[in-house]
Amino acid sequence: MGIAGQVAIDDTRHTVPTTMLAAVYRGKNDVRLETVPVPEIGVGELLVRVRTCGVCGTDLKKISTGSHSAPRIFGHETSGVVAAVGRGVRDFKEGDRVMVFHHIPCGQCFYCHNKTFAQCETYKKVGCTAGFEPSGGGFSQYVRVMDWIVKKGTVRIPDDVSFEQACFVEPVNTCLKGIETLRLRDGETVLVIGQGPIGIILSVLAKRTGANVITSDLYPQRLTIGSTFGLVNTIDASRMNVLEKVRELTQGRGADAAILAVGGNSLIRPAMDATRPGGRVLLFAQTVRGEATIDPSAVCVDEKSLLGSYSASVELQEESVRFVMSREMDLERLISHRFPLTRSVEALDLAAHPQPDSMKVVIQAGSLLEGNTE
Ligand SMILES: [Zn+2]
Ligand SMILES: [Zn+2]
Repeated sequence: MGIAGQVAIDDTRHTVPTTMLAAVYRGKNDVRLETVPVPEIGVGELLVRVRTCGVCGTDLKKISTGSHSAPRIFGHETSGVVAAVGRGVRDFKEGDRVMVFHHIPCGQCFYCHNKTFAQCETYKKVGCTAGFEPSGGGFSQYVRVMDWIVKKGTVRIPDDVSFEQACFVEPVNTCLKGIETLRLRDGETVLVIGQGPIGIILSVLAKRTGANVITSDLYPQRLTIGSTFGLVNTIDASRMNVLEKVRELTQGRGADAAILAVGGNSLIRPAMDATRPGGRVLLFAQTVRGEATIDPSAVCVDEKSLLGSYSASVELQEESVRFVMSREMDLERLISHRFPLTRSVEALDLAAHPQPDSMKVVIQAGSLLEGNTE
C-alpha cells in the first residue's frame, strides 16, 4: 500500500538526535539539502518526527517566485509520529501517529467572526517549524508544533490509515472550502478545469454534493486516473474544444459553475466562457498577484460571478479529517512519486514541472536512503 521502500523504524522507541537533514530554501529557485539543528520545543509543544509530507503548489510558488525571505524550511502537509512532548501536553504522547495543520485561526477577531479565517492575523502565523522563520517545516526530519496547533490543529491518525493518506487532510480541507464557496445545488453541472491531484479531489468533492461533474485536462493520462475515481464525464482538451463540448453537454447553456484548478491566468476567460449566464467561476489556483484579462460585461450583463477560495477552513476541519481517515476516497492513489528526504530537491523540481504521468509528489523523511519514484 504505497510504503514500499520505507525503512522500518520502531516508532515507540526512538531517541531524538541533535541534528537532522532538511530541504532549506535559500532564495528564489534555490533549495539545498542541509544539516540543521533539530528544533527545541517548549511548554505545550510537540516534536513530530516526519514520515510523509506532501509537496503543495503553494510551496512551489514560494520557491519559484522568491516571494518569501530566506532561509526557510517549507512543507505543510505533514504526517508523522510524536517524538517528544513539551511540559503540560496531555492529549498526546510519544509514539502517537498524527497529522498537523500549520495554520489555526484565533476564533476571536473580526475576520474569524466573519468566517474569513484565512485573513485572521493569528491564522497567518505559521505554527509548525523545522527552524528559521516558521514555514511548515515538513521537508525535514523533525517538526516543532507550537502550542495553539497542538490544541486545535493536531489530529490523531487511526491505526489502519497510512501516513500517506493522512497527509491529505490539509489539501482536502482547502478543496472542501472551495466547494463550499461555490454553493453547488443538487443536479447542477460543474466543469473542473485541470485534473492534477487537487483538480481530482475538487471533482470528487463536487460530485459528492450531487453535482454533475465534467472534467477537462490537456493530459489524457490524468483523465484516465480521474475516471478511476468515478469521474467519467471527461473532456480531453488536447483534442477537443472544451467550450463546445461543455455547451453540448448542457443544452447549449454552459456549466452552472466552473472551477479553475490550474495556475496562471490564461484560462480565466475560457472558464468564464464555459459558464452559463448567472453562473459562477471559482479561482482555486490563481495564487500569484498580477493582472488578468476578463470581459467585464460577462460579470455585469451576463451576471457571472468570479469567486475565490484560498487555504483551509477550521470549520471544515472535522469533515476533512472524517473524509480522509474514513478513506472515503483512496487519496494515496493520487501519489505518483515518493522521494526520500535526501532527494527532496529532485522531488520539488519534479513537482514544479509536472509531467503527464506525475500527480502528487510526497517526500518521505521516514525513508532516508531508500525510497522509490515509481
Ligand atoms: Zn497545501
Ligand atoms: Zn482571528
